[in-house]
Amino acid sequence: MKEISFESQVLHTPFEKEDAYHSLSMPVYNTAAYEFDSAEAMEAAFCGYTSDHAYSRITNPTVQNFENKIRVVTEAFSVTALNSGMAAISNALITVAYSGANIITSAHLFGNTYSFLKNTLGAFGVEARFCDLTNPEEVSSQVDENTCAIFLEVITNPQLEVADLKKLSAIGKEKGVPLIADTTVVPFNIFKAKDFGVDIEIVSSTKYISGGATSIGGLILDYGTFDWKRSSKLADMTTQFGNGTFTAKLRKEIHRNLGAYMTPQVAYMQTLGLETMEVRYERQTQTCLELAKRLQSLKEIESVNYTGLKESPFYKISNAQFGSYPGAMFTFNLSSKEACFSFMNKLKLIRRATNLFDNKTLAIHPASTIYGTFTEEQRQSMDVSSKTIRLSLGLESVDDLFNDIKQALSQEIF
Ligand SMILES: *Cc1c(COP(=O)(O)O)cnc(C)c1O
Repeated sequence: MKEISFESQVLHTPFEKEDAYHSLSMPVYNTAAYEFDSAEAMEAAFCGYTSDHAYSRITNPTVQNFENKIRVVTEAFSVTALNSGMAAISNALITVAYSGANIITSAHLFGNTYSFLKNTLGAFGVEARFCDLTNPEEVSSQVDENTCAIFLEVITNPQLEVADLKKLSAIGKEKGVPLIADTTVVPFNIFKAKDFGVDIEIVSSTKYISGGATSIGGLILDYGTFDWKRSSKLADMTTQFGNGTFTAKLRKEIHRNLGAYMTPQVAYMQTLGLETMEVRYERQTQTCLELAKRLQSLKEIESVNYTGLKESPFYKISNAQFGSYPGAMFTFNLSSKEACFSFMNKLKLIRRATNLFDNKTLAIHPASTIYGTFTEEQRQSMDVSSKTIRLSLGLESVDDLFNDIKQALSQEIF
């Protein structure tokens, strides 16, 4: 059905409505509210009989254009843009969760996601069941009649663990549980989540899509693949909404009530990022693989972890799911925390910063930052080592990056 490539399609998706001034790029509709010609038209919009915009917490033309571009290239049933990746995760999980429910997941999670599941949802009676998602038998045994989702990150960070999505999806289909995946590390131009049985895809658009680290954003993609009759919370709505039940619950209730919709300025910047994502991904991941290979040869480095390397225990499954270039991020271990700090402090070109997939290459020591406020015990249970450095590759030349790493590893005093 789709004869046009991703990179062409995201550039040329038509506007939802003809622009009054024939603007070539989507204007930023900086407005909170929209005017109506009549009380009848207003009633129709507010009651959902027409799709006219009413208020920018709920929909906005610039944000909708961004959502629509992504919907077209991914063939998702719906796309919802939120004002952060965390907002996307919280909105999606609150849509399916209820007091007494449980979510099957792994302790290998982004720090705030772990805290959201354990502390925030925990306080409302939703249990996070942390288990080994690479072990399908264990996952299967953890599911019960109150399981409302299996939730995972497709390549965990910083552990770089990859679960077999088709196996998890099969468990979900058998037991009536949706598979919700955070795919931030491998974007949808490369990884076709739907083909691997993911029902709901979550993306922090702060990362690859934004590209230049211009703004914070998040996305929820509903593929319309889950049979919500099997969800005790949402089953009642299926007569009216069918496969669109999750989207209806999200857009008509949760997202309005939580009020975390993307703003038009962010949607504008992220639309520009989306238009160049394909070429940036190609360049950044090639640099990533090449640099990971070069670092394997340095004696100061104990180990290099990237699922695109044959030495990774997840190489095969990563290759099957994400191809030869599984994201532009890898980690490596030095001899100690002190060696990591010394390395970080000597970097000249590579920036000391959090974030992923900026145009600039970024280095971080995860144990002392993202996981800095966790207890040593928690870090151990999450396999976050104090010997690990994480690199997110940007657009610089691979030689410049390699030279900066080599000089930062050297013991010489300049
Ligand atoms: C950054 C990130 C998030 C959170 O996204 P924000 O846009 O910072 O809220 C969630 N999951 C993963 C895998 C991330 O890398």
